[in-house]
Amino acid sequence: MSITSGWDTVARYLWRMPSSVLADAAAVGRFPNTLQALARGYRAAESIRSLTGNSDPWVIAALLGVPVEHHEQPPVAELTPGVRSEYECEGRRVLIYTQPLARLAAVMRRQAPRLRYLDLGGLHLAHELYHYLEHCRPDLAAAPDQDSPRLSELAAHAFTQALLDLDFFPAELDSLAGA
Ligand SMILES: [Zn+2]
Repeated sequence: MSITSGWDTVARYLWRMPSSVLADAAAVGRFPNTLQALARGYRAAESIRSLTGNSDPWVIAALLGVPVEHHEQPPVAELTPGVRSEYECEGRRVLIYTQPLARLAAVMRRQAPRLRYLDLGGLHLAHELYHYLEHCRPDLAAAPDQDSPRLSELAAHAFTQALLDLDFFPAELDSLAGA
């Protein structure tokens, strides 16, 4: 699938957005910002794909020199409920937490069986790679969003969706995980 940049890309993907996300964005008057965040994520996926010649987040992480570490859970899990993965600029790494991912996989088998073959580790790595790019390597593919962590999240979901060519919007997994 080739991804073109700009509003046509947004339109191409918009139908896949859960209506609750769009309704929420419209209700708080953030609709244009929401679309821009989605476009930022889609464009970043296109950029990193052409930069690395790859769509595989594991290969892209290796090419960027960003090791991926698997840990059972966050260092202080009770302080960060719902956290399944993280990135570090200074540590120059991505952390993936296997216990929360296993819990999510169990919920998905029950509630979203069509997604049961998803590589959850790769999907979360793609999400964290977007945050890594925007905050740690803004020279490469994505500038950080200045005013809203929520918009940064949307952009990361859009990046993940486009990079992995998913037929659903990854925020769906947050709902499944109860995040
Ligand atoms: Zn995120």
